[in-house]
Amino acid sequence: MIKQNNTETTIAELRHVTKTVEGIKGNTVTIIENIDFQLKKNKITALLGPSGSGKSTLIKIISGLQKPTTGDVIYRDKPLSAPSSKISIVFQNFALFPWLTVLENVAIVLKAKGMDDQVINDKALKILDTIGLDGFEDAYPKELSGGMKQRVGFARALIVEPELLCMDEPFSALDILTAENLRREIIDLWIDRKLPTEAILLVTHNIEEAVFFADECVILSKNPGRIRSQFSIALPHKRNPESDEFKMFIDMIYQLLTNPEAEAESIQSKFFVSKEKHQMLPNAKPGAIAGLLELVFERGGEEDIYKLSDELQMEVDDILPIVDAGVLLQYVKVTEGDIALTENGKEFVTADILNRKVNFSRQTIENAVLVKQVLRLLNTKKNHRLHEDFIEEYLLKFFTPDEAKRQIDIAITWGRFGELFSYDADTGELYLENSVS
Ligand code: ADP
Ligand code: MG
Repeated sequence: MIKQNNTETTIAELRHVTKTVEGIKGNTVTIIENIDFQLKKNKITALLGPSGSGKSTLIKIISGLQKPTTGDVIYRDKPLSAPSSKISIVFQNFALFPWLTVLENVAIVLKAKGMDDQVINDKALKILDTIGLDGFEDAYPKELSGGMKQRVGFARALIVEPELLCMDEPFSALDILTAENLRREIIDLWIDRKLPTEAILLVTHNIEEAVFFADECVILSKNPGRIRSQFSIALPHKRNPESDEFKMFIDMIYQLLTNPEAEAESIQSKFFVSKEKHQMLPNAKPGAIAGLLELVFERGGEEDIYKLSDELQMEVDDILPIVDAGVLLQYVKVTEGDIALTENGKEFVTADILNRKVNFSRQTIENAVLVKQVLRLLNTKKNHRLHEDFIEEYLLKFFTPDEAKRQIDIAITWGRFGELFSYDADTGELYLENSVS
């Protein structure tokens, strides 16, 4: 049950994009190499990398301002070969016309398109209001603070109602407090769907800014610019930089940026990051799995599944999740309707309850991806506690809301039986048993 259909939601895509330029000695300098990524509808994608990793080059290529040397830019399923009116860019510093007012600086973008003056005026006033420049319509750029000037930059990019809004370090020329305020306002507008845009690409070298904004994060390494790593940040928006989850992503990205290339995958896999698909745990309680194994054991270690369902007076549909769980945990093998115990299965059945738990925890860690992820996450967290909502938010990328909840329930039931972690139903927290705070 995979929730998203990726091809439907892709707005823009880079395929194998490489950009080279001629060096001063006539040599070829590769700026970015073999870049692949997609920008999805309703998502903020952050492109994070050190200075000189080719971020600005990439944003120009994706908006049609520059051509790649090789590779393709696909916009809405068609090759993009020239700047598009559907794509806007906000730069770090906006060159405003000093002799024009704020309103005129914004309106001029549409005047160039030959639109009706009254329509332009209305649109300009509306976007100025949205972006917090209400009352500054008649001010001149020299009268504005840096933060206000940048707001004009945003208004100029947004007045064309771009499908894709690209931002190249839009907050980095501002002082810390102004940047923080403007970031919060922009994310609020985005979440409240007040920005007239369908997707955002944010280029930044600021890790915290990336974790604050990104639904999807692409990390570049430099010399030449290559994709180092790519993952989702499945935290609900209006994120709190002080939260453990937020800090965990900062920590992970920091490690990704500071460690040699070869380690990217192992660093990423230590943390809680998504793959395209997620293994689905069959809905079976450990007691039911044990019951099935016992029954098969009593039949000499092998039986016909249909006979078992008869014996148990269960429908095959009801017994199948239990069989699936047995297969996933490598307790049984199923061939042509026959179910047979494996060595692990025999070991489990013949053990006492304590050793059954030991066996079960081993098989679960090895085979149940979600249980393994939860355990890793609990281990990486300082207080070894984790709220179930965090796991749910992550699972919603792969499952329907009902199934996400069920997956958590199953993981908790299995984890508890194997005594891998505990669950506090009052607070909704999972925690490691031996480190109760
Ligand atoms: P970033 O935005 O990540 O700092 P840029 O895209 O601006 O990176 O630049 C990446 C690298 O490519 C830099 O080393 C820059 O000097 C170089 N570069 C960019 N454009 C050109 C060009 N037209 N000619 C030569 N070098 C360039
Ligand atoms: Mg740049």
